[in-house]
Amino acid sequence: MSQSPKWDLGRLYAPDSLELKQDMELIRRRRTEFAANRELLVNDKLTLERFAALVRELESLRILDSQISGFAELSFSDNTSDEKAQAFLGVTRQASAELENELLFFELWWQKLDPALADEYRASLPEFDYFLTQIRALLEHSLAEGEERVINLKNANGRQAIITLYDSITNRYVFDSSFIPGSDGQPIGREELMVQVRSHQPRLREKAYQELYRVFSDDGPALGQIYQALVRDWRQENVRLRHYGSPISVRHKFNDLPQETVDSLLRVCQGKGRQVFGRYFQKKAQALGMSKLRRYDLYAPLSEEKRQWTFAEAMDEVTKCFGDFDPQLAQLAQNIVSQNHLDAQIRQGKASGAFCASLAPKMTPWVLMTFKGQTQDVFTLAHELGHAAHSQLAKDQNLFQFHACLPLAETASTFGELLLAKRLLANADPADREALTFHLLDDAYATVGRQAFFALFEITAHEMIEEGASVSQICQSYWDNLVTQFGDSLALNEEFRWEWVTIPHIFHTPFYVYAYSFGQLLVYSLWRVYEREGPDLAQRLMKLLARGGSAPPLTILAEAGLGPLDDDFWLGGFEVIDALMSGTGLSG
Ligand SMILES: [Zn+2]
Repeated sequence: MSQSPKWDLGRLYAPDSLELKQDMELIRRRRTEFAANRELLVNDKLTLERFAALVRELESLRILDSQISGFAELSFSDNTSDEKAQAFLGVTRQASAELENELLFFELWWQKLDPALADEYRASLPEFDYFLTQIRALLEHSLAEGEERVINLKNANGRQAIITLYDSITNRYVFDSSFIPGSDGQPIGREELMVQVRSHQPRLREKAYQELYRVFSDDGPALGQIYQALVRDWRQENVRLRHYGSPISVRHKFNDLPQETVDSLLRVCQGKGRQVFGRYFQKKAQALGMSKLRRYDLYAPLSEEKRQWTFAEAMDEVTKCFGDFDPQLAQLAQNIVSQNHLDAQIRQGKASGAFCASLAPKMTPWVLMTFKGQTQDVFTLAHELGHAAHSQLAKDQNLFQFHACLPLAETASTFGELLLAKRLLANADPADREALTFHLLDDAYATVGRQAFFALFEITAHEMIEEGASVSQICQSYWDNLVTQFGDSLALNEEFRWEWVTIPHIFHTPFYVYAYSFGQLLVYSLWRVYEREGPDLAQRLMKLLARGGSAPPLTILAEAGLGPLDDDFWLGGFEVIDALMSGTGLSG
């Protein structure tokens, strides 16, 4: 295996195959048959057996749909310039939406069913308990069917359209490249521009940020207006109409997390987190030979990358570090390669980025990444194979309880990266060890500290906009957030007041970002436990992963003996970051 592998999507379907057409037809037929049960529900004539059969049929329809849509999505990412794949993707998205609409009545009926009756039905189907409970938990925030339909209908051309507009405007931005040595002066995209913030040359890092904010701030007033509209709509719908206590509590409900847990996380990030990262920025300035770090230098590398990896070497390293933790983990990672479910090839037209697609329980997940031979690629491999192991461990869950909820979704992937880091640190020479440590700390800041402060900004912005704040006032509030975050530890520049308009998540999915801090700091805290308890934690973690999304996140953690998730718990995570910083690396 000297070259990077390519996946074999033929294991799902052959393109244009008869089997694919038959499966699509099968869904259409079965969804109509399912809808014929509507009468039974309205008249409460459903036996317990029939109820169980319907839930299972619902799952089986969704699995088939996931297999077909998954094939379409994967084929498209295999070659995004393939027009047939693009058209087929459109067809399957439409079909999934139709399926969703046709099945919706069942969930609405279940949600509104008399509590005593619902308990009886639920008791008869314990393996679906969390799924069934979760639907009913949203009842107090749901509206009449007619109102829900109007909201759905208006969202398509309202909220969703405005979000798409934000994406269309910002995705079209091009940036001046004439400051980059060797450039032909042609305009470049955002991804290419941002490569320069990791440049060795301080001037290039500075220029890249200035260029980014020059372009975004030109449209700042309009982008800010889009944000104001989305924030107002979020409040009108969720706080006014659906009676959520606050804009952020909607996200807590979807994540099934108590408010106190998230409050505690954000509190610790504001306190201890600020201190730890503040010290880190000073340390980084020293290492770079600067008297004070500038915000421009946050992701500056310490040294030029020397090592080139082959895919086989990378896979060997990942398998070994997973195997040291638990042999099964290594086996699950290897499955992805041996079953030809991994695409790491460099290829024209292939989707950028990396992902692990888990279509359904008992179906080996699919992983896409582009392996260019750098150490970062080995981390990406460990990350995505961590996801792949997680979903294989959860294979005995039903489809609805299979995917881990957002706050736990990055547990195996991030833990996998730490296992790799530990192994690489142990075997590196001192210079490489230092560079790698700084790289890990950059990552810790970007995921834990930065995202927590985004969430704090969102909380303030949602309140301010309700009070009628202008775009300049929001910029000022973002600036204040940065000043609080960085204090004296680094030098800020004016243009960063526009950073918030460049962050898609806060437009697309309000308060999503805290899940990043949560997930990463959770894994550092787990690492703390691993250092103390070794193999015992390994066993508990494997069980935790096997739970998938079959219970509230805090319940799954408590079963593994982890928690309570109070300030002390989060502080444990910062101890690992502290230890990395003081050069003791990752033990365990
Ligand atoms: Zn991930």
